[in-house]
Amino acid sequence: MKTVNDIRDTFLDYFAANGHAKVASGPLVPHNDPTLMFTNAGMVQFKNVFTGAETRPYTRAATSQKCVRAGGKHNDLENVGYTARHHTFFEMLGNFSFGDYFKDTAIELAWTLITKEFALPKDKLLVTVYADDDQAFDLWKKIAGLPEDRIIRIATSDNFWAMGDTGPCGPCSEIFYDHGDHIPGGPPGSPDEDGDRFIEIWNLVFMQYEQKTPDERVDLPRPSIDTGMGLERIAAVMQGTHDNYEIDLMRGLIRASAEASGTAPDGPHKVSHRVIADHLRATAFLIADGVLPSNEGRGYVLRRIMRRAMRHAHLIGASEPLIWRLVPTLIGEMGRAYPELVRAKALISETLKLEETRFKKTLDRGLRLLDEETAALGDKGVLDGETAFKLYDTYGFPLDLTQDALRSRGLAVDEAGFNAAMARQRAEARKAWAGSGAAATDRIWFDLREDVGASEFLGYLKEEAQGRV
Ligand code: ATP
Ligand code: MG
Ligand code: MG
Ligand code: MG
Repeated sequence: MKTVNDIRDTFLDYFAANGHAKVASGPLVPHNDPTLMFTNAGMVQFKNVFTGAETRPYTRAATSQKCVRAGGKHNDLENVGYTARHHTFFEMLGNFSFGDYFKDTAIELAWTLITKEFALPKDKLLVTVYADDDQAFDLWKKIAGLPEDRIIRIATSDNFWAMGDTGPCGPCSEIFYDHGDHIPGGPPGSPDEDGDRFIEIWNLVFMQYEQKTPDERVDLPRPSIDTGMGLERIAAVMQGTHDNYEIDLMRGLIRASAEASGTAPDGPHKVSHRVIADHLRATAFLIADGVLPSNEGRGYVLRRIMRRAMRHAHLIGASEPLIWRLVPTLIGEMGRAYPELVRAKALISETLKLEETRFKKTLDRGLRLLDEETAALGDKGVLDGETAFKLYDTYGFPLDLTQDALRSRGLAVDEAGFNAAMARQRAEARKAWAGSGAAATDRIWFDLREDVGASEFLGYLKEEAQGRV
């Protein structure tokens, strides 16, 4: 069986043999783009190369890029634990042409890799093209010999990629694998496409235009290629499963979580082990790239991921901090490909342990409160915004953690009520402050504190004052 590590190597070696420079993954916090929360695709480190603002000593490159899709435009956090194919952290394999080869070579290289090197059966593969991209349609017919009914034209933005409102853009073509009719889900473009049967493994972007203004689009003189293939998804296909969480690497993490908690990996706590395995990766890689849990921005996304994982550790009955104990297993699986994990080992472990220790008591008490407040709601109810806000403010529960806790019971949160409670509390705090005749410097301190989400921080202080933490 080819392991995840083997598949990553095969991909990079294949493209190197085809004239591509092997380039290391860029960091999860993009250097060149303050508007982007986390690196979420392989092309991010090459943005300026595609626009021509920057040149490199190569015109073809291949990478395995660390990606996080939690927060920001692409957000798969809510999918984790619910689909077989989404992670918050994943690796995106990609090959890139910077004004070098275009559509025909890109399709040829992709098709040869998956059907020859990876030996996927042709009759399980289908592709989508952008509705008016006749060129791509014809190339798939000619190069891959795919019958017309397995080249699906899609008219939505799913198959048209743009860097932003202006800049390079173009049609894309997605390659899907059919895991078989024992899995629910329909083909791309059908009403039930959102299942796990037809899984998108590879996205080829044909950058052929430049959007000059909202109304003016011109042909790029030297079109480019950007592709992205989910390593975990292709590994699943090659390891004979439709489920990303069944691949060797994820199984290793799930086993570690099961052993550390003395529970079965696939028993009643299956989902929790999966979420922990996923969130462990996101946490470790984010910390290794310099993000620390905090109450604002990237740090708050990290904190939310960590706390979601901690709720699942609670569900599997862990009475002591658990997730930090899985770090050595993760490093055993991924440390060779990503030495930054090895370097940051102590920081990752200590940060996890501290955050788990700090959150544990309020987590236990908050979950009890949540149980009490929802006991009478049945299975279709809505938790009031005041309680959700109290959980946030006093117990450090991010709103999405409360929502996640209720989702499996079919319950929702009154979000508008939550926001109203938050706004009211801020207004009151501001009023009290203004009434105290505070000097301008104090006011600046107040604004700062508010920016970093002081309510949660004050929650801890309140608990501390009562001797409960
Ligand atoms: P999907 O439609 O399945 O959500 P996508 O179209 O959003 O995927 P792309 O932006 O095209 O994904 O990213 C390129 C590839 O990265 C996808 O073809 C897929 O193989 C992989 N991928 C995307 N999102 C995830 C994720 N959350 N977890 C694991 N792999 C992913
Ligand atoms: Mg997606
Ligand atoms: Mg897609
Ligand atoms: Mg896609």
